[in-house]
Amino acid sequence: MHIPGHLAIALVQHRFPILSKDKNTLKPLLMASLFPDLVDKSLGYGFRIMPNGRHYAHNIFSLVGSTAFVTAVWGKKTGYAWFAGYSGHLIVDRNSLVPWLFPLQAYNFTQGRLTWDRSQLFKEMLFLFLALIVYRLAPQ
Ligand SMILES: [Zn+2]
Repeated sequence: MHIPGHLAIALVQHRFPILSKDKNTLKPLLMASLFPDLVDKSLGYGFRIMPNGRHYAHNIFSLVGSTAFVTAVWGKKTGYAWFAGYSGHLIVDRNSLVPWLFPLQAYNFTQGRLTWDRSQLFKEMLFLFLALIVYRLAPQ
């Protein structure tokens, strides 16, 4: 999934009762929804440290560790939002390999490259547009 899709999922998640009562949860939720790709795609495609864009931040240990860090620094509500956004990202990325147990389990990371599927991007932009409408219309 691309950035618009991840943001749309996060907007929908922000309507969950545990998150929607506090407007301050929106920013960490949106940030967490993009964090795994920001880290891994930068390391994989920008710095070429790994062969593709899913490894260090696309696993359960990064999810738990970063949530613990965010919770310790910014508190429980922000931690919930971070966890929701981050886990939502990993769940919708499951259309292809998500190395859930990396680095404890070995994965065959194939050489990848950053691509933008125009058709997928268009669908996600539409999804984001619809999510924005629902987000604005739904009662808070
Ligand atoms: Zn991702």
